[in-house]
Amino acid sequence: MPDTQVAAADPDTMANKTYDAVIIGAGIAGMYQLYRLRQLGLSVRVLETGSGVGGTWYWNRYPGARFDSESYTYGYSFSEELLQDWNWSEHFAPQAETLRYLNHVADRFDMRRDIRFGSRVSSAAFDEAARRWEVTLDGGERFFGRFLITAIGPLSAHTLPRIPGVDSFRGQSFHTYRWPHEPVDFAGKRVAVIGTGATGVQVIQTIAPLVGRLTVFQRTPNWCTPLHNRKITEDEQRKIKAGYPAMFDLLRRTPGCYIHNTDPRGTFEVTEEERETFWEKLYSEPGFGIWMANFRDVLTDPKANALFSDFVARKIRQRVKDPATAEKLIPKCHGFGTRRVPQETGYYEAYNLPHVELVDTRATPIERITETGVRTSDAERGFDMIIYATGFDAITGAFDRIEFRGTGGQRLKDHWADGPKTYLGLMSAGFPNMLTIVGPHNASTRCNIPRCIEQNVDWATGLMRAARDRGITRFEATPDAEAEWSRHIEELADGMLYTQVDSWATGVNSNVEGRNVRRILQYQGGAPAYRARCDEVAATGYAGMVLS
Ligand code: NAP
Repeated sequence: MPDTQVAAADPDTMANKTYDAVIIGAGIAGMYQLYRLRQLGLSVRVLETGSGVGGTWYWNRYPGARFDSESYTYGYSFSEELLQDWNWSEHFAPQAETLRYLNHVADRFDMRRDIRFGSRVSSAAFDEAARRWEVTLDGGERFFGRFLITAIGPLSAHTLPRIPGVDSFRGQSFHTYRWPHEPVDFAGKRVAVIGTGATGVQVIQTIAPLVGRLTVFQRTPNWCTPLHNRKITEDEQRKIKAGYPAMFDLLRRTPGCYIHNTDPRGTFEVTEEERETFWEKLYSEPGFGIWMANFRDVLTDPKANALFSDFVARKIRQRVKDPATAEKLIPKCHGFGTRRVPQETGYYEAYNLPHVELVDTRATPIERITETGVRTSDAERGFDMIIYATGFDAITGAFDRIEFRGTGGQRLKDHWADGPKTYLGLMSAGFPNMLTIVGPHNASTRCNIPRCIEQNVDWATGLMRAARDRGITRFEATPDAEAEWSRHIEELADGMLYTQVDSWATGVNSNVEGRNVRRILQYQGGAPAYRARCDEVAATGYAGMVLS
């Protein structure tokens, strides 16, 4: 697996560490932002915790990690040469291939010389007199940037479960986000997996055939549907490359920038037979079509949602041999698609293997992680390895882990204490010269994320260009614009079934103090409307902002 970092001559040791822009994070967003700002001729420093590029794809090396967006819809669109050069091997590429791709991009565009690896930002404070950000790393080293751009990811603040004894286990244990770079041997091992979100599902289905014994600790089942991945043939490769312009054009028009678009029909506008045929077709097709190209009311009308949930429940009952296990795997407290739908390959069949056990932790809660295993209310099981697929303090968690201080020393964490307040999901009043790529309240976290990243970054670049051309050294969202946008975000979410369900998308995480209240964190109006609004703000000379 590539983790190639070149320790190039460090320009920071020569310069005074003052840049036009400091970017936090060298994942997909940070890399693209670097590329764009360099084109403007700005001096830029990217600060990255990891020892390599790739963000999500650098950290998430757990077994089975792969796309569930079609590979060719996920890559960068900014370079025709890059698009024509790169061959995706599978319709849904595995993590190692994606990381290889991102390393290829970093090399091809000579990005590494402006990235400082192994550099975790601990705080960033706006200096009003100098009109610049002072960014401090763990260890105290400081960098200065006129503009600060966060590209820290919505799912990068991983969380271990708050279960007593987590530190006491003497076997191997990993959070999926912090998976080791070295190969992990599963042969003959007694393995526990805690968590059955999209990550847990990928891990479970992948390691089930490899381990001696697998015990899955499930608190909430999810509605999982088949990925139907396969290799890309040579003929398909040619068609993909010839079809990029039309495909990107389509992606610009769908709500989540996927190749799947909502079916305009209502669930009850067709006959029962037509409905069943349509749903069978969706179940047999690859990717997120079943979630995103379903009838238009499946995610908003409780009756339509319940009917489709019944359809998926029937599939689970057909695929899982033991009826009691099947019932445990069928969600009872939330409808299909109201939480992120894990895409699976043989996930349900894993539970038909004799050495795989499913423990419902609502019926028999985990009481303690012991030195040798996991104790539930009814049993103690010994393990050689515990895998925590327990998720993230999503969307705002990565912001909380850095102490951002704006005007008057106010903390972003305090400003967002009752939920994020933003303008366009890209900035916050009181935090001048700071842009939050893939931040809360923008369209990106309900999006085929590189597509929305490109939009966020292009918009940020437009603002930087205007600043450069007009000699602007300070910009800030007005409190009114922020309040209006934050209200708009609430209105858009009104009527969506997902807002009535606990999940990372509503900001609930039982492992983080205070994260037990649902919040509206995402823009629900669809990427095209979001893009139009951002474009309008730019076209009107940045209405809602003060530039000076
Ligand atoms: P997640 O969806 O938040 O799932 C975390 C799991 O851990 C849940 O099943 C949760 O149960 C369980 N859990 C947490 N704390 C627990 C505790 N104390 N005791 C028992 N169970 C506990 O996190 P994730 O699976 O890492 O996925 C997060 C997101 O990452 C996905 O939704 C997706 O957007 C993204 N992702 C993408 C891909 C891809 O593109 N291919 C793959 C993986 C992930 P509860 O549900 O009861 O809280």
